[in-house]
Amino acid sequence: DVQLSDRVQQIKPSPTLAVTNRAAELRAEGKDIIGLGAGEPDFDTPDHIKQAAITALQNGYTKYTAVDGTPSLKQAIIKKFQRDNNLSYEPNQILVSCGGKQSFFNLALALLNKGDEVIIPAPYWVSYPDMVTMAEGTPVAIETTIESRFKITPQQLEAAITDKTRLFVINSPSNPSGVAYTKAEFKALADVLLKHPNILIATDDMYEHIMWNEEGFNNILDVCPELYDRTIVLNGVSKAYSMTGWRIGYAGGPAKLIGAMKKIQSQSTSNPTSIAQYAAEAAINGDQECVAQMVTEFKKRHDYMVSALNDIKGIHCIPGDGTFYVFPSAQEIITKSDKFNNDLDFAEYLLNEAGVAVVPGSAFGSPGNMRLSFATSMEVLEDAVSRIKKAIEAL
Ligand code: PLP
Repeated sequence: DVQLSDRVQQIKPSPTLAVTNRAAELRAEGKDIIGLGAGEPDFDTPDHIKQAAITALQNGYTKYTAVDGTPSLKQAIIKKFQRDNNLSYEPNQILVSCGGKQSFFNLALALLNKGDEVIIPAPYWVSYPDMVTMAEGTPVAIETTIESRFKITPQQLEAAITDKTRLFVINSPSNPSGVAYTKAEFKALADVLLKHPNILIATDDMYEHIMWNEEGFNNILDVCPELYDRTIVLNGVSKAYSMTGWRIGYAGGPAKLIGAMKKIQSQSTSNPTSIAQYAAEAAINGDQECVAQMVTEFKKRHDYMVSALNDIKGIHCIPGDGTFYVFPSAQEIITKSDKFNNDLDFAEYLLNEAGVAVVPGSAFGSPGNMRLSFATSMEVLEDAVSRIKKAIEAL
């Protein structure tokens, strides 16, 4: 029997991928399953982006690149940060990685020592705590509720900080809640962070472009440029350009930290795929109309989901500011029915009785809720919601 490391035994496989796999298994058995578990847009990668990859292939750009990304992609990212975020970076402050996931993984490994604490507001992207654990850090979750629109208060942040706190992670708009912090809320959090100069801040802006709120996109540096020297901005092309399979993410931040992350990457994956980097460059430099079209569609589906879910007795769903997820509470149903101990049971029930795969909120550190992705057609969403409604009414 193979003895596995303590490290791997401390982490769990990604629950969102697990739900997707379970749905695929049931489908393979011939069951009619609607998957609302996946975290990826249903649109095809826009044609001009694919074309750039084909051209790169034909031009022979099929070899190793610089570890931190091709100089031209890094320039495109620098221009993007200036254009969209009013942030200035030099090339040694930019690192391109194999997806946003590797960006965060590099960050955890470059920054954390055993026992260093990382503050992660819940509900959180499932991978943050496990990546922190793999790096021997300690994830510290801050719980929120639907009443606070799944956002933390400055008092909660202050209370979570200890002398071991090394990093604070912000993801706005959030996977899974879809909710974004306002400028005023960011300012209040920044005021706390200004009192603690040893804490680094990671702002995961992965859903920057998938938004429809009135204020538009903001991150903490928009309201508090003083934090620039200790903030790392994470972003990528996966969600905005429907490029999840291309595996390109990037980070901008302090040169010393970026250099350390680059060293780690140089000993793990080297560079991200060469042709995917050319495609990402075309995405970032190209016409952004393709993004606007996807966002229009996501917004329509979002509005439908929020209203249709709220029509189901016992389900409460707040509108989001962006992303392609809703995160309704099913707590009332879970509490009332003796069929369920928790949201895992409830999600299992929906899978078996309604044939709809959703991800239970406890996977994101927020039990009682569930994440439904609306990255699928309106027709499928309507079918899914009516099945969920029927299954709940049958209780
Ligand atoms: N950050 C957030 C908040 C995400 O939801 C995801 C994907 O689910 C990522 C980062 C990573 O994206 P990728 O590694 O596919 O680029």
